[in-house]
Amino acid sequence: MRTPRTLITGGAGFLGSHLCDRLLAEGHAVICMDNFITGSPDNVASLIGNQHFHLIEHDVTNYIYVDGPLDYVLHFASPASPIDYLQYPIQTLKVGALGTHKALGLAKAKGARFLLASTSEVYGDPLVHPQPETYWGNVNPVGLRGVYDEAKRFAEAMTMAYHRYHGVETRIVRIFNTFGPRMRLDDGRALPTFMRQALQGEPLTVYGDGSQTRSFTYVNDTVEGIFRLLHSDLVDPVNIGNPDEITILDFAKEIIALTNSPSPVIFETLPEDDPLIRQPDVTRARQSLHWQPQFSRAEGLRLTLAYVQDQLRALANG
Ligand code: NAD
Ligand code: UDP
Repeated sequence: MRTPRTLITGGAGFLGSHLCDRLLAEGHAVICMDNFITGSPDNVASLIGNQHFHLIEHDVTNYIYVDGPLDYVLHFASPASPIDYLQYPIQTLKVGALGTHKALGLAKAKGARFLLASTSEVYGDPLVHPQPETYWGNVNPVGLRGVYDEAKRFAEAMTMAYHRYHGVETRIVRIFNTFGPRMRLDDGRALPTFMRQALQGEPLTVYGDGSQTRSFTYVNDTVEGIFRLLHSDLVDPVNIGNPDEITILDFAKEIIALTNSPSPVIFETLPEDDPLIRQPDVTRARQSLHWQPQFSRAEGLRLTLAYVQDQLRALANG
């Protein structure tokens, strides 16, 4: 059998780079395409030289050309942290809309299976809790986060249209807050921010009163869920996330305890439209993919802490 060939857009980002590792380990040839707007070639540096790995710098909102056959297209390109998509609002809308269109067009031309990286943000500030895939969401289209949420909602609609009208084999994963090594320490997300602050003895900046909740998933579990979904026959969206929900204030305290830090917590203004609750209903993933998280938050945090400590040491040594 021929080696499967897979394109990963956004492959030099946090999640994309872990997917490159996983698919290479599964015997795929991987083409990683990225414009490095929020990712970095450093994330895939260890793969350079692997004859089955190719890194291409390209903005996928423009026509995507790939030589030869393709079996899978995984569309992960998009700014993903709130400060990133607030800094790049138009680019975020473009990669969700035009980028998804280009990636789907490529999948159609090659007869490849397409997988879209969607998000729990399609549920917005949810009125249903926990969130099953059948919930349509509560999104403010004209709010600051609308650039990300609506881009992903459009991307899901475009993916379904290519499936229904062009017969493209499609999969949609709705990823909940994922963490682990290779997150940028300055991406503004709660976990890298809190860990950096705790290790540097700075106050941990909790937004609002910290009663808003999230459900954090370790990256290996997210990658496993995506891998299983890719090889399943599920066309409908699938939530992948650890249902273990925690308030952001308790999360900050957990990181202070883990790092044995003297840092206090300080409270800052809650950003506009910040969802107040979030927990995935993972019944579909459990039943259809036989997936469930294997890493507790505590274990994931320990593994991530080692990475953050290394990064800070490297920064300190210039
Ligand atoms: P990331 O910023 O680390 O990775 C995104 C990558 O896409 C970066 O390498 C970036 O340079 C690249 N990119 C952006 N626009 C591009 C363009 N026009 N052309 C080519 N490359 C482009 O973010 P991440 O956390 O790894 O997220 C990856 C994907 O997963 C995103 O689509 C995101 O919406 C989705 N997702 C992530 C999470 C999470 O918790 N990390 C949760 C839900 C959804
Ligand atoms: N958050 C916080 N302090 C920070 C960064 C984030 O209190 O320094 C909060 C943020 O307001 C949100 C939660 O932590 O309620 C998770 O934020 P993150 O940016 O990690 O992800 P998202 O909001 O996209 O789920």
